[in-house]
Amino acid sequence: MTVDIRNIPEDEHLTIEGELTDDICQLPENDAASVSGPLTYRAEASIISENLLLRGNFNQPFELTCCRCNQAFRHTVRLSGHSLLAPLGNLTLIDLTDALREDIILALPNFPHCNNGDNPMDCPARGRFHTEEDFLPTDPKENKASGSSSWETLDKLKLD
Ligand SMILES: [Zn+2]
Repeated sequence: MTVDIRNIPEDEHLTIEGELTDDICQLPENDAASVSGPLTYRAEASIISENLLLRGNFNQPFELTCCRCNQAFRHTVRLSGHSLLAPLGNLTLIDLTDALREDIILALPNFPHCNNGDNPMDCPARGRFHTEEDFLPTDPKENKASGSSSWETLDKLKLD
């Protein structure tokens, strides 16, 4: 994503919007996340003390794999009111791709859950790690049984 600063009016901002069909994230092929559509953006570019400031909304859809049930689901990273800053140097064309890529990847969930996707699914693996049986107290009948057997033993003693 490049901005030509010659298009930015002095003391004003330039609105840029559109979509990037190129995959700017370039995630490794075996990654749990993969880009699943174009990056859409609408942002205002302005010059602030020798820097280019781009502030706006950036949305990048991904296909993620649920870490609990292994199901693939769609999750869009939405950076809203997000700021990107790049020094101007002597350039007129400023490339913000690297900065944007980094911020989008940082916004990906570390532990993707399919019930947090764009169309939340009812994760079939939800709550399966601990079953109710794991938390049942030991059977109180066992103690009673041993108690009654003690009484039986006592009764036998009396009879003798
Ligand atoms: Zn799931």
